Amino acid sequence: MNKKDKDKNDKKENKKLLISLLILLLLIVLIAGLAIFYVNIKGKEDENTLAYTDLIKQISYGNVEKIEMTVGSTTLKVKIKNEEKEKTAIVQNTESFMEFVQTKVAEGNEIELIQKPRSVLSQIPSVIITFLPTAIMLALFIMIFKMQGLGEKGKVYDETEKKTKVKFDDVAGLEEEKEELIEIVDFLKKPEKYAKMGAKIPRGVLLYGKPGTGKTLIAKAIAGEANVPFISMSGSEFIEMFAGLGASRVRKLFEKARRMAPCIVFIDEIDAIGARRTSNSGAETENNQTLNQLLVEMDGFSSEETIIVLAATNRPEMLDKALLRPGRFDRQITIPTPDLKGRLEILKIHSKDKKISDDLNLESIAEDTAGFTGAELANILNEAAIIATKRKHDGIEIDDIEEAVKKVTVGLEKRQRVISEKDKKLTAYHEAGHAVVSKYLPTQADVKEVSIIPRGVAGGYTMYKTDEDKYYISKTEMQEKLIALLGGRAAEKLVLDDISTGASNDIEVATKIARDMVTKYGMSDTLGPIDFQGKEPYEIQMFGENIGDKIGQEVKRLIDTAYNDALTLLNEHRDKLDKIALSLLEKEKINEEDFKKFFEEG
Ligand code: ADP
Ligand code: MG
Ligand code: ZN
Repeated sequence: MNKKDKDKNDKKENKKLLISLLILLLLIVLIAGLAIFYVNIKGKEDENTLAYTDLIKQISYGNVEKIEMTVGSTTLKVKIKNEEKEKTAIVQNTESFMEFVQTKVAEGNEIELIQKPRSVLSQIPSVIITFLPTAIMLALFIMIFKMQGLGEKGKVYDETEKKTKVKFDDVAGLEEEKEELIEIVDFLKKPEKYAKMGAKIPRGVLLYGKPGTGKTLIAKAIAGEANVPFISMSGSEFIEMFAGLGASRVRKLFEKARRMAPCIVFIDEIDAIGARRTSNSGAETENNQTLNQLLVEMDGFSSEETIIVLAATNRPEMLDKALLRPGRFDRQITIPTPDLKGRLEILKIHSKDKKISDDLNLESIAEDTAGFTGAELANILNEAAIIATKRKHDGIEIDDIEEAVKKVTVGLEKRQRVISEKDKKLTAYHEAGHAVVSKYLPTQADVKEVSIIPRGVAGGYTMYKTDEDKYYISKTEMQEKLIALLGGRAAEKLVLDDISTGASNDIEVATKIARDMVTKYGMSDTLGPIDFQGKEPYEIQMFGENIGDKIGQEVKRLIDTAYNDALTLLNEHRDKLDKIALSLLEKEKINEEDFKKFFEEG
């Protein structure tokens, strides 16, 4: 995990560098091209050029009247007797040519020799070629430094976000969390009250939670409720191309905060800078400096300064423990994905400004969207409003919502795409495989819809009914989930005796589940309940020499077993698999009721 994060940051930096280099390269190519073009034009500008040998001959015959040359140039203008136009000639070695001309003049040839100083105009190309690259380099550096926010203070924080209008009422659900945070609002409003009592107020509050659960929203709401400025920055913005800049950005951020106190400083994605300090290699050292600066700033708060630092992350396990010490982020609040009541509240808030048809039941939508975050719910309502507009409905209806849910979860339906019969058959068996296998797995949710109409990047999909909210998932349930996921691939293998790339996402998800089972949830009997996740190799080795191999073997065993179970189930119920696949080829889509009918007796 740690490594992956580093890679992400490296990628970001590399991208910036690459773009700069590309621009530079483009400019150089452009200049070179222009220069060549210019030289070519100069060479061809006169049709009557004189070949060098002809020039020598003409001089020897005494036919040349006048030679005009420019200092530093190899191009001459030559006037031949009895000819109107001057000719141009190019000499390679001007010195030896001059010697030749001089001997001819000494021999009595009458040649007018004119030496002209460099004209300003003729100097331009060479000036460009010499100095422009340097100028471009300079300009580029200035640009990069500006991007880094070194020269200018404007980009570091968004001044328009000084005060937010967000209030606790805009944050749906999360009642307990708001309860906890109200204290901070009160402190920001009346710091003296707490000081008098000698109470120490938390400096930092860490918000844990999946993306889209409302961490930023609730941080803004605290600032809004207390009516203090909200200064925000994302952790990934601290990670810069040049070493040391991250730290200087942190310093500037807190300088600003001190000037604006009382205020809220919000650091999003704090894991980008606060990742555990493990080694001393390259990008990590830079992160360390940034992290150290942050710790220094937070330790340096005096008791009169009313600054509260809020930070958000979805990967608490990645954070350096030093961040969590007293006086730093000593308060941690988990922001959960909303439960049924929370989802209903969120749907209510976000449908306030939308036109809803009278018979739309928000409660049933909340029931059908277990596991969705606030951001996803807000997104679904917005998509539904767009779909309803397209369909010319008077208000958002339930089928608009259903379409929006699919759009947000699996992507947009693409009916136009032409699919070969062979691909269709493969997809039909693949999806039928998922659906049939799930039907025979007691812990797996009921199938809501199976389709072979492409959506987003998926060639087809099997949708399940979402259950009531669950807080724990059992080992059996995870094992059966693996079987359901591999049911698609198993069906391909069984029926077509060939496999496709279509199962790549299933395999990705299955591998992650199997790995979590072994390394995070301690569900492997041979390895026992030990947390191996996010550990360095040496930390893992503590548990045995070949522990890495053993983990791999266990993960593989889980996957192999699940795949074989899927094959067995499908073999057993081959008739159902064939029937459903055929029906899919015919109708492209099977809904919940029709799917159930395949399994009714008789
Ligand atoms: P996070 O910072 O946790 O990734 P955000 O606070 O940025 O999530 O949430 C994104 C959007 O989702 C919000 O702007 C809001 O529209 C919606 N949202 C998320 N959670 C809630 C909530 N509890 N109440 C109301 N809206 C929410
Ligand atoms: Mg956020
Ligand atoms: Zn699949």
